[in-house]
Amino acid sequence: MLPKNPSNKLETHEVFNVPSYLGDQDLWENDRALKDWTNILGGGWAVEKLKTIGKSVGSQKVFDKADKANKYAPELKIFDKYGMRINQVEFHPAYHELLDLAVSSEVHNFAWRHRKKGSHVVNAALIYMFCQPEGGIMCPMAMAYSVTPSLKSTPEIEKKWMPGILSTSYDSRDIPIEEKTGNLIGMFMTEKQGGSDVRANTTFARPLGAKQGISQEYLITGHKFFCSAPMCDAFLVLAKTEDYGISCFLVPRWKPDGTRNSLNIQRIKDKLGNRSNASTEMEFKDTYGVMVGEEGRGIRTIMDMVTGNRIYCAMSSAGIMRQALVQAIHHVSNRSAFQKRLIQQPLMQNVISDMAIETEAALALGMRVASSIDNSEHNEEEKSFARIGTAIAKYWICKRAPFLVYEALECHGGIGYIEESIMPRLYREVPLNSIWEGPGNVMALDVLRAITKDALAGQVLIKEIKSAYGADDRLDRLCDRLESLLESKNTLEVSMREITQMMALGLQGALLIKYSSKEVAEAFCASRLNNQYGGAFGTLPAETDFDSIIERAYSL
Ligand SMILES: Cc1cc2nc3c(=O)[nH]c(=O)nc-3n(C[C@H](O)[C@H](O)[C@H](O)COP(=O)(O)OP(=O)(O)OC[C@H]3O[C@@H](n4cnc5c(N)ncnc54)[C@H](O)[C@@H]3O)c2cc1C
Repeated sequence: MLPKNPSNKLETHEVFNVPSYLGDQDLWENDRALKDWTNILGGGWAVEKLKTIGKSVGSQKVFDKADKANKYAPELKIFDKYGMRINQVEFHPAYHELLDLAVSSEVHNFAWRHRKKGSHVVNAALIYMFCQPEGGIMCPMAMAYSVTPSLKSTPEIEKKWMPGILSTSYDSRDIPIEEKTGNLIGMFMTEKQGGSDVRANTTFARPLGAKQGISQEYLITGHKFFCSAPMCDAFLVLAKTEDYGISCFLVPRWKPDGTRNSLNIQRIKDKLGNRSNASTEMEFKDTYGVMVGEEGRGIRTIMDMVTGNRIYCAMSSAGIMRQALVQAIHHVSNRSAFQKRLIQQPLMQNVISDMAIETEAALALGMRVASSIDNSEHNEEEKSFARIGTAIAKYWICKRAPFLVYEALECHGGIGYIEESIMPRLYREVPLNSIWEGPGNVMALDVLRAITKDALAGQVLIKEIKSAYGADDRLDRLCDRLESLLESKNTLEVSMREITQMMALGLQGALLIKYSSKEVAEAFCASRLNNQYGGAFGTLPAETDFDSIIERAYSL
């Protein structure tokens, strides 16, 4: 661990005007917006847990482990010393320790273990805090969280696998699940010729015995081009059957007879970021799998899992924005230029405030979508909101995050570009959330699908924005425009990015007006809902109350 205040006298010069190390962070206590939104949206009953986790996950020790897990990337071990095929990936101990912390903190299953109102909101808060030191552990956490609704389609599989997913024990051993204390599940859909367009999949499955269909055994042959977290105990996989087309299968690492399944890893991908997490390419040759959901309805079955992953992507991007903002605030508060601390320079105040309102708007939107999942069970409107809100949040939050991280990096000047700081790691990590589980266009088209197929989706969206109607002219105008666009059915495919952006800004504006500070809400509406807005950070109007916004963003 780095000392908090390094010695400043060197042989040739004195080192001054550099910030001390940030050290331990309290990811809960210092984040007023997180505390507020968790309470507002029904997660207040878990505050004690979130408090504890905010301290432990924000500790310098955890951030150091994240650095190590990225520096010492996973290694492929295809064969053992006797030449037996084992298809394993070896991780640095720091990665296992981080996963252990995440699993024991229920990041992958809180909502399913505590089934009461607000549990998805609390889960969202956990995601937001955990991804701040390290995004690479979130991939297996996301998939384990998201798989639960898909497994419900097949009671035999649900009964066998859910206890291990609901466990809070991290068991990294590569052995059959009957001998393990906890399990994780991954997902392989993407093939070389088709990722977004999974109907182009060519991997095929044939029944192992005389029976076929749901919960029957199959042998699968083909290739999957992106297989992340390959150390998981099982994977949901899409493959075609001869009669019905794309179906979904649970493919375990170990077969029921106690032998290894043939999940033949070919290589680990050399990625831009997310380096602690292994993403592999895999060949299937008569690989054992059990059908999940109905034959030919594989896309429908796996979509439940995809939806959960999309919420994870949105919350994880919001969390990365938050960490970038904290790093920037720390730096500019402790460095001077031109006789003043940077934080006191008017233009820097504008940049920091602008990033702070973007981060809170992202948090608010992500948490509101999580709350709609909490409310969905007996409420059709909330179910429709969850459907359309997930696509809007994934699109917009993941789109804004890379710009914000880049701007926060620039606040550091030159050292933001140097690898000893966390900024390059955040910068490399952040575009990924936008790509996987559906890149920007795919998300915008999903919004189009939602409003075309579910009449309620457009209505509940407008209702939500209108809940703040009359409070701000700029929001009223956006809402009227959006409403007439949806009524005239003028929602052309080519305009879906613009429409999705309007929806996101409308939702964020309404949420901030209703529940955030008036300074944050005013600055958001005056910038994002103004026709002149060009998107660059640091362009808030001169009359903005910068001090209040910055104080809210980082309260020590
Ligand atoms: C690090 C990493 C890990 C991953 N891990 C996994 C994993 O574990 N399991 C898994 O299954 N997948 C995984 N993926 C794959 C990921 O989900 C896909 O890359 C993603 O869904 C996009 O698919 P694609 O790469 O085939 O791109 P394409 O589908 O070819 O898309 C390319 C571009 O075309 C756009 N596009 C697509 N359709 C349309 C359209 N109709 N109109 C306009 N534009 C369109 C997209 O928005 C995108 O910008 C991973 C990816 C990465 C980068």
